[in-house]
Amino acid sequence: MRLMEIKPGARVAVAGAGAFGSTIALVLAEAGFAVRHFDSARLGANASGVAAGMLAPAAEAVFDPAAAAHLDLLRRARDLWPALAARIGVSLHREGLRVEGRSDWVDEVAARFQALGLTFRRDAGGLTSDEDWRLDARSTLAALRTAALAHGASLQERALEARDIPHFAMTVIATGAAGGDLAPELAFLSPIKGQILRAAGGLSEGPILRGQGVYVCPARDPAIGATMEAGRSDLEVDWRALEPLKAAALALRPDLGQPMTAEVGIRAATPDGLPLVGPSQTPGVFLAVGARRNGWLLAPLVADLVAAYLTGKDPGPDAARFEARRFSRPDDTE
Ligand SMILES: Cc1cc2nc3c(=O)[nH]c(=O)nc-3n(C[C@H](O)[C@H](O)[C@H](O)COP(=O)(O)OP(=O)(O)OC[C@H]3O[C@@H](n4cnc5c(N)ncnc54)[C@H](O)[C@@H]3O)c2cc1C
Repeated sequence: MRLMEIKPGARVAVAGAGAFGSTIALVLAEAGFAVRHFDSARLGANASGVAAGMLAPAAEAVFDPAAAAHLDLLRRARDLWPALAARIGVSLHREGLRVEGRSDWVDEVAARFQALGLTFRRDAGGLTSDEDWRLDARSTLAALRTAALAHGASLQERALEARDIPHFAMTVIATGAAGGDLAPELAFLSPIKGQILRAAGGLSEGPILRGQGVYVCPARDPAIGATMEAGRSDLEVDWRALEPLKAAALALRPDLGQPMTAEVGIRAATPDGLPLVGPSQTPGVFLAVGARRNGWLLAPLVADLVAAYLTGKDPGPDAARFEARRFSRPDDTE
């Protein structure tokens, strides 16, 4: 693994104020770099602000075939959250996950839990697991920003452009699905549109609820999600796509408050479902993109990885799985 230490206190640009960029800006500022954080979007006007805020290694591994092979990594990422949350003054809700539905389907889910070595309790109405946690996405973005500014980072309320890159010792691209041509590796990202509903109350606390084809994440305005529309990057709300989610959620909890509102975010995905984290083939550019469904869950692990690279430390066992140039042809790389 190539290390790329840059001088302590060096100027570092971070492009993107989603879960990845905001956590990276904080961790690099804490490490003593002079961080300039770029984004033209209003705080939370991105996939990270729309997200349900689940830190859900178990549900992801059980319900998303692309994640099952990465359960170890997802759990490690979750376990970094308590320390980060304490640093930024954010509450984590650790009431776990509740799965409810037809008993043959719950049995099937229980078998998947068992096959993955996940602990759970089966009862007459469903199953419960302590593995999954949640946070409030928008207030966590605000807390990350406040903490980064307190550590000396500065905010640049515009998009980073290619001509900015030579002015920094390193530029970290954390632009989600919208990085354009800032680095050639971004061409390997594809968009997955996600639509999510917010109910007007009805499930403010307790475990995350999962039914067949739907989750309800407790909050003042519970999140009901979410569509996975591969290849789409438009921000149009399509109520026809949301009706099945609404019906499934109301079947689980008929007292979810109406009317419901809808939001849209665009996830960025790589061919193997893991982010690109590491040096780009473009000198002076470092990538942290492609979070797919797990940007919040993975954020502290990815930020620590970026900080390890930039401070010349061993980036550890996850670095190879995240290698940023793994999809580039050999003759594209140095
Ligand atoms: C409906 C939905 C529900 C989800 N629920 C969860 C969940 O419960 N748990 C979970 O872990 N994940 C969830 N996700 C996934 C998660 O939201 C994403 O993986 C995560 O938000 C990606 O974070 P990011 O920082 O990479 O990108 P984004 O949040 O997309 O942020 C990228 C930012 O980069 C900015 N930008 C773009 N170009 C430039 C530029 N040139 N210069 C500067 N800034 C630029 C954009 O304005 C944007 O603010 C969900 C996603 C969706 C859509």
